[in-house]
This record gives sequence, structure tokens and C-alpha cells, in this order.
Amino acid sequence: MQAVKGKSILPGIAIGRLHIYKKDEDEIREEKTDDTEGEVKRFESARREAVSAQRKLYKKALEESGEDTADIFLVHRMILEDKSLIDEILSLIKEGNYTAEYAVREAFNREAAIIADTDDKYLSERNSDVYDTENELLAALRGEELTAVKRKEPTIYLADVLYPSDIVKADRHLFCGFVTKGGSPVSHTAILAKSMNLHAIIDTGKIDEEWEGKIGIIDGDAGDLYIDPPERLIAEFRKKQENELHEKSKLSDLIGKKSITIDGKIIKLFANINDSSEVACVMENDAEGIGLMRSEFLYFNRDDYPDEETQFKAYKNVVSSMAPKRVIIRTSDLGEDKMADNMDFDQKENPALGYRGVRVSLMRRDLFKTELRAILRASWYGNVGVMFPMLTSAWELSECIDVLYECERELISEGYQIKQVLKGAMVETPAAVLIADDLAEMCDFLSIGTNDLCQYTLALDRENANLGVFYNSHHPALLREIAMTVAAGHRHNCFVSICGELAADISLTGELLGMGVDGLSVVPSELLKVRKKIRSLDLSSEE
Ligand code: PEP
Ligand code: MG
Repeated sequence: MQAVKGKSILPGIAIGRLHIYKKDEDEIREEKTDDTEGEVKRFESARREAVSAQRKLYKKALEESGEDTADIFLVHRMILEDKSLIDEILSLIKEGNYTAEYAVREAFNREAAIIADTDDKYLSERNSDVYDTENELLAALRGEELTAVKRKEPTIYLADVLYPSDIVKADRHLFCGFVTKGGSPVSHTAILAKSMNLHAIIDTGKIDEEWEGKIGIIDGDAGDLYIDPPERLIAEFRKKQENELHEKSKLSDLIGKKSITIDGKIIKLFANINDSSEVACVMENDAEGIGLMRSEFLYFNRDDYPDEETQFKAYKNVVSSMAPKRVIIRTSDLGEDKMADNMDFDQKENPALGYRGVRVSLMRRDLFKTELRAILRASWYGNVGVMFPMLTSAWELSECIDVLYECERELISEGYQIKQVLKGAMVETPAAVLIADDLAEMCDFLSIGTNDLCQYTLALDRENANLGVFYNSHHPALLREIAMTVAAGHRHNCFVSICGELAADISLTGELLGMGVDGLSVVPSELLKVRKKIRSLDLSSEE
């Protein structure tokens, strides 16, 4: 057994098979072909092979495990024989000139989106079957052996670096954690991983090819990775895992209770999400709304920019599921480490200080308007707020609001029904703190992004693992900035909340509430822990 130390991003344990992550290993690119007839033949032969494999697997499972397990393969066969799905794939090949692989991926993605959009619980549980069947068809296209029972087990990825787009691409069903040679706990990769409940050890300083295929244990409480541990240690960690689950389930007593201090101050406890798949976890943990939807994740894992309809459907899904609770959608904060593969941004050497957030929106009005129109159309289905990231001047905010109003007018004249959306400014640069009065005057709420505010205040790259000891999120300068922002917001009747990672730091909850913060927005899995802390505080007795 070997053991390696790093930094943990989430307490808790993950046990899985270690696998060196290779970029784009499962990626299917949007590719055209001249030989559509050949692609149709490849698809048809792969489909026949997949159907026949499902028949064999059904029989085998019936004999070995009984009807319930065998039924899975029956469902897969039905999907492979679904006429509308087959027609869609064929039309993508014949009319779109796409390769068979791309046509399969695209048609299955559309099917999965329709299923995700339904309220039918039975159907929505079928999404993993759609996903599995797609993989079987793709494996047949690659000429892989289909009836061999594939070892499907939880996997811990190993890589030098991972970006948010890599995390989004990975197979969520089996992905239980990752280990990276570099990385920082406040990077977007770490934030995304936390919200997906993925355990990770980052900044280990090394990743060894020889670990491939071995069992790994991530001890998120100590920041350790064990490679090829003995059975005894695995059993010990499994026991620990069970105890942690038990502890977590005790927090569920707080579901349905208010986030209120002993002396009666009510705090709005919101959740941060990256996409609609997290809404179930948000509801399970009883969030009082969504305080930050990081919309840029809609841009990953695709070859083009998402169009208005795609964005509208994604927002509508979240907004209607959460209604009447509020959903605050942040306009896309692209740039820095949040870059999709297809983006043609001319990134200079200092991306954190470069083309990022609202700067992209104001220079690419086409993308900005598409996004705002989608958000406004989704507003009809619930209670929506919109906020703008990376502001440094009142001019930027006023431009953003003008574009928002322009989109409102357009949509109304086109006959769309929209509701009034609340407008917010993110305060995540020192400049925004210093002009917080001017920003607050123009909007309904301020949301403090402490991850970036800390980075820009301390002049310290949040992605740089070597600077970890200097990244002090309790720095008095940052705390003073929060207090200044709250005071400025309240002078203009603005609701002021925090949506950076600091919002979930329970060692600071008392101090933040003492400053007058009205709301906290945290990853869904941390909601109840923060509620417990709020309910234990008596602000009248604090200094
Ligand atoms: C922040 O900067 O605190 C924030 C919430 O935004 P992000 O982490 O996405 O930059
Ligand atoms: Mg930010």
C-alpha cells in the first residue's frame, strides 16, 4: 500500500478504482461525412448487434439473477427498437450528414432532455437506462465486445489538472472522486466537485501511472489518498463511511425548520447550483431558494454556443421546479478557468484579470441577449432574479440593465409572457465594494462573491496551488469589505447575501450575521449544516 497527502475539498470518504483520466477519452465531436450510406450501414449493423447482445444478457440475467434484474435488458432492447429514436438517428445521418457516432449521441441527448423535462417520476428514473443503452450502441460502433459483463464500479480519476468542463464530461454514475497533482480548494473545479458531492484530494504533488486499476481510498477528513490498501483498511473506511451517513441523516431533523437565530433574526438560506440535475438535492436539503445558478456550465461539453431555446428549457426546468421559491440566475461568467472547448476567446497571460464575466457579455452582446431572453422567458414559470458577475463599475451595471430592458421590450412585442425579474449585482471585486452604494442604487440585491473578492483583494490567484498558505479567506480586509457592502446595500434597501464558499464556513457564520448579512447561499450538501449553526446563534449576546 502507498499513501499520499494532499488537500481535501470535502469531508468524507470515497472508495473506488483508480483510473488515469485522459482528456477527451469519451468525447464524440460533431463531425460530418460524405459517405452517409456507409454510416447508415454502420449504425444499422451496430444496432442489430446491440439488440442481439441485449437478448443474450436478458437470458443470462433471468437464469442467474431473476426477472427484476433481467428486465433492465428488456428495457434497453425496447429503447434500441424505438422507432422514433431510430428515425431521428437516421435523419441526422442522412439529412445532417453526421457520422453515426455523433448522430447517436445527439439523438440520445435529445431523448434524455425530454425525459428530464417530464414530471413523471417513473420516466425520469429511466434516464440511466437511456444513457446505458447509448453507451452500448457507441461501444458496438467501436467494435467492442458487448456481451462481456463490463466491470462497472465507482471510479476515482487521477490527473495532473482537471477543469470544470472535464468534471461535467465524466460519467456521473460511476465517478466518485478525483485526485490531482495540482489544484486549489477555491478553484471552480473544486466548487463544482463539492456541489456534485465528489470527494477529491488535490495538490498531491504527484500522480503515478502505476496506480492505474488499483483500489483507492480518499480520506477527505485527513486529506489522504491510500493506494492499493489492504482489506482490513477498506473495511475500516467503509465503517467510517456508514457512520458519516448516519450523522448526516440526523441533520434531516432540520428539514422544514426555519433558518432563524435564537434571538429571532431570519436568514434566507439559499443553494448554489451549476445545472438542473442538482435541483433534486436542493429540495431534499430544503433550500429556501437558489442564490446562484452558475449558468456557464450550459456552455460546456458542446461544439457551439447554446441557443435561446436550449437555455430557456434549462432555466425553465429549474425555475418551475423551485417555484414559488426564488431562483437567482447569474449571467454567464465565462473566461478564466471556465472555458468551453469551442470558445474562440483570445486569452492573454493573465486570464483572471482579462476577458471574463460581464466583460465578455458586454463585448459579445449577441451571446448576452440570447442568454437574457432565455432567462426572461423562464421568468414566467416562477420567481426569478438575474445578477451580473465581475462588475467593476456602475457603467457596466447600467449597460447590463439596459440590455435586460431591451430584451424585455423585444419579448413583449413578440408576444411572450414574462414576469418582472429582480436585478442584482455581484460584489466580487474591490472596486465593486468601494462603489457598492452606486450599484445598490440601481438594483434590488447585492450578492457577495467571496471567492473572487478574496482573490482580487489579496492580489492572489485562486487557482494557484502554490499560494495556498496565503489564501486567507478570514483576512480582515475581506471581512471589512463584507461589512462595507452590507452597510451600503442596506442604505439603499437592498437585500445582501453571500454566495462564495465563505457562506458555508460555520466558523464565521456568527460574525457574518452580526454584520447584518441577510442571506447565505451554499452548496446543497452544506445547507442543513449551516441551518444548524444559524439556529444555535444568539446575536444579541455577541459582541
Ligand atoms: C465567487 O467568486 O465567490 C462566486 C460565487 O463566483 P465563482 O466562484 O463562480 O467565481
Ligand atoms: Mg466569482
